[in-house]
Amino acid sequence: MHPFTYRDGVLCAESASLETIAQAVGTPCYVYSRAALTAAFQAYTSAFSDTPTLVCYAAKANSNLALLNLFARLGSGFDIVSGGELARVLAASGAPEQVVFSGVGKAAAEMRFALEHDILCFNVESASELERLNQVAGEVKKVAPVSFRVNPDVDAGTHPYISTGLKESKFGVPHRDARALYRRARQLPHVRIVGIDCHIGSQINELAPYVDALDRILELVVQLAADGIALEHIDLGGGLGIRYRDEEPPALSEYAQAIRNRMAGRSERLLLEPGRSLVGNGGLLLTRVEYLKHGETKHFVVVDAAMNDLLRPALYNAYHQVLTVREHQAATPEVYDVVGPVCESGDFLALDRTLAVAEGDLLAIMSAGAYGMSMSSNYNTRPRAAEVLADGTEWYVIRDREQVPDLFAREHLLP
Ligand SMILES: *Cc1c(COP(=O)(O)O)cnc(C)c1O
Repeated sequence: MHPFTYRDGVLCAESASLETIAQAVGTPCYVYSRAALTAAFQAYTSAFSDTPTLVCYAAKANSNLALLNLFARLGSGFDIVSGGELARVLAASGAPEQVVFSGVGKAAAEMRFALEHDILCFNVESASELERLNQVAGEVKKVAPVSFRVNPDVDAGTHPYISTGLKESKFGVPHRDARALYRRARQLPHVRIVGIDCHIGSQINELAPYVDALDRILELVVQLAADGIALEHIDLGGGLGIRYRDEEPPALSEYAQAIRNRMAGRSERLLLEPGRSLVGNGGLLLTRVEYLKHGETKHFVVVDAAMNDLLRPALYNAYHQVLTVREHQAATPEVYDVVGPVCESGDFLALDRTLAVAEGDLLAIMSAGAYGMSMSSNYNTRPRAAEVLADGTEWYVIRDREQVPDLFAREHLLP
């Protein structure tokens, strides 16, 4: 599956030329491939076809309504982290009965909203949240379905890249407290225990931490059963890595096999919450070269996209491959930093890349489908980018470029 390939020397999204898209829509612009998104989703459903499984796309990775709607049509559920994301899922015709609600800081109003729509499950992250949820549910005369997000505390020495499943993390409840919390939940009149969940981190490229986490969770499931608490689902969260550069994330078939081996003979439904692995490699950021700038020790390509459009390089020092939209360039290759117009020295998209470019050329920042647009901001009063979905020979604008007046429409001069 190669959604972005050169045809007649021009990089295309499916069959649409990125030059055509840039001319029509302008830059910077995110471009996604419907076929790539669909294939990524179907890879999950086919890997888990013989296990009762619900894939809940983690909306925060990319919450454009068209993408949510595409996944909803494919049968996806959703993992949300705010009332706003629930509103998006509903606007995109997502099924609320397939929504799980994660996050450490759910407000009472968000709980009410989710209860009104009868979501599948609240992934509860603290004792206080459980008490509040019970109270709010009572007020609206509902019974809240709950799961506890358990922190499996898989070994940090073995798996140092895991950022959210450790004791020190703000996420989840400690493994040793979980049993007591379930007993407490059982006593509350307005909650109903339905599951258990964990989410151990992101961009995980090994199976071992998943296997360790699932084993820790299953230990608890057995203890809960001894307490007479039966669960309807086990939710393993998301986090599976993708290839940005030379990473080798496990194949979905291996990931599924490892999980299935441990779930064999169990009656609980499996829930998964993938984000990055569904959308990351299905999108790119299209940008135009404004200037070539030759400093004393470095050469710079100054482009019209910046850290406000794609924060990952500045925030995590993340690597994104950079391609020229024209495959063969007349310009002499040089080693460049690709930087944006924002007034921060951390505003870069790529460092030390050999590129043959001229002013006015188009560049594609690859693997930008996840945590790209959804983390974008208006820093420096920069309107947020347009978004386009390519679909065979067709392509659709799925978000109009923001306009400058939009950015201060809710501000007020002093009287
Ligand atoms: C962010 C998040 C996900 C998705 O993580 P990916 O690394 O994008 O797969 C899933 N579940 C929870 C609770 C999250 O916070």
